[in-house]
Amino acid sequence: MLAGQPVVILRENVERTRGFEAQRSNIMAAKAVAAAIRTTLGPRGMDKMLVNSSGDVVITNDGATILHEISVQHPAAKMVVEVAETQDDEVGDGTTTATVLVGALMEEAEKLLSQEIHPTVIGHGYLLGMEKSLEILDDLAISVGFDDRENLLKIADTATTGKAIEGVKEKLSGIVVDAVQLVADKTDEGRIVVDEDDVMIKKQVGETMDDAELVRGVVIDKKRVFEQMPRVVTDARVALLAQPLEITKTQVKAKIKITTSDQMKAFSEQEREALKHLADQIVATGANVVLCQKGIADAVQFYLAKHGVLALEDVKENDMKYAARALGATIVNKPEELTEEALGRAEKAEQLADTELTVISGCQNPKAVTILLRGTSQLLVDELERAVYDAARVVQDALEDGKFVVGGGSVETELLLRIRDYAASIGGRAQMAIEAFANAFEVIPRTLAENSGFDPIDKLVALKKAHAVGQKYAGLDVYTGAVVDMKEAGVIEPLRVKTQAIKSASETASLLVRVDDMMITQPAKKREGAEE
Ligand code: ADP
Ligand code: MG
Repeated sequence: MLAGQPVVILRENVERTRGFEAQRSNIMAAKAVAAAIRTTLGPRGMDKMLVNSSGDVVITNDGATILHEISVQHPAAKMVVEVAETQDDEVGDGTTTATVLVGALMEEAEKLLSQEIHPTVIGHGYLLGMEKSLEILDDLAISVGFDDRENLLKIADTATTGKAIEGVKEKLSGIVVDAVQLVADKTDEGRIVVDEDDVMIKKQVGETMDDAELVRGVVIDKKRVFEQMPRVVTDARVALLAQPLEITKTQVKAKIKITTSDQMKAFSEQEREALKHLADQIVATGANVVLCQKGIADAVQFYLAKHGVLALEDVKENDMKYAARALGATIVNKPEELTEEALGRAEKAEQLADTELTVISGCQNPKAVTILLRGTSQLLVDELERAVYDAARVVQDALEDGKFVVGGGSVETELLLRIRDYAASIGGRAQMAIEAFANAFEVIPRTLAENSGFDPIDKLVALKKAHAVGQKYAGLDVYTGAVVDMKEAGVIEPLRVKTQAIKSASETASLLVRVDDMMITQPAKKREGAEE
């Protein structure tokens, strides 16, 4: 009876793409995302100017930022963006590399598909290739110790080459390495761990980039509440208060019932007394700096100023917590809970002249530090911040794992050759998939060459030649075009940047290539007159 009638199993708002069409669509999407950011790869990569829907302008060369700012529609494109986001979350660098790699893996897959290699074979081959690459990377990795300042500086430098930081790179890399070493902890098993939140970055527009500094303490975007307070306090003892420094009417009312105007006078007298008492309690602990998360009543400000206390009000909760960590202080609710032990210590608290910034610096043993960046424009300090953030993350990665690999396309060329050998040892159809996987690595040196204005084919040939004769650190000098020992040149990166990039790129490509049916549910249209 039903013969000839199609059986409808999907709702009408589901858009469906299948088979070759679905595969093609995913491949195109992944390639498009990769193509969008590949021109930023490497020190000589270009910048992108992005304008978001509210008209804000961002100029950056940072893959993660670009992908974050542009919104992509296609599900496969979204997955590629996710690769970049994960890369950024997990390691803080290598986002362009990871994205470009997925693009290349999908491009290779496209060729295999057109040769009628089954997607399952490709997906499987890619995973084998990935496992092999991780093994090879481990073999190529070089150790870096906690005090190996020289290499840590090079790692920071490599992550920031080509970014806006260029003119002050040396100084900033030094600041970054110091900062991360200061907040690093050792676990009981002797492992080094760093909490990235312990390095805060603050920005000040107006000064030049050279004035960047490492603050062993905190920088708070507030100026003193009262002009009569000192702008600078040395040998600072800092009180952190969560509640407002004021008295509520009910507090007073509870004590006296106002019936006559005489009592009214007493009221304000008592109020004044209570306010003075708040200030006195703080001063009695020895505090000479106050950070209050809420407001400070005028009278309290006045009494604090009289005692030479520098006070800030409405300090953000985050900054309060950060200050507690950096200064070794305890946040209390009210002045009566304040003790000497609760105070944080610093060499100096200073509201920078003509700014809204107060710097509390020179803590003995800070568990958290602040990098204060300066620059002549907001765009510049924003890009500086991204560069410094990357640098801090790679130094953290390198310290935590104690391993680095050699960059400039060297590790990728080595992988390319070794995985090809491995593929040959596997044979059959899987061999083709693993070879394709190996070939995808070409995209890194090729793109580095292209972005630096050199012939990619020539450079690739030269690189492979060098590696074939055992120069395993040979990479591309993007400034001269020469093939040089990148380890000697100091172009090194944390092992984790590469392992994470390869893992997530391979896994995503392997997943995407096996999709042959896409069912996309469109948002249901609201019915006419339907209630919200
Ligand atoms: P990603 O977002 O992947 O970190 P980058 O734009 O930071 O992208 O480029 C990273 C690539 O540039 C890495 O392959 C790295 O080895 C390479 N690279 C960095 N500095 C140099 C250099 N001085 N010479 C050659 N290659 C470099
Ligand atoms: Mg980078």
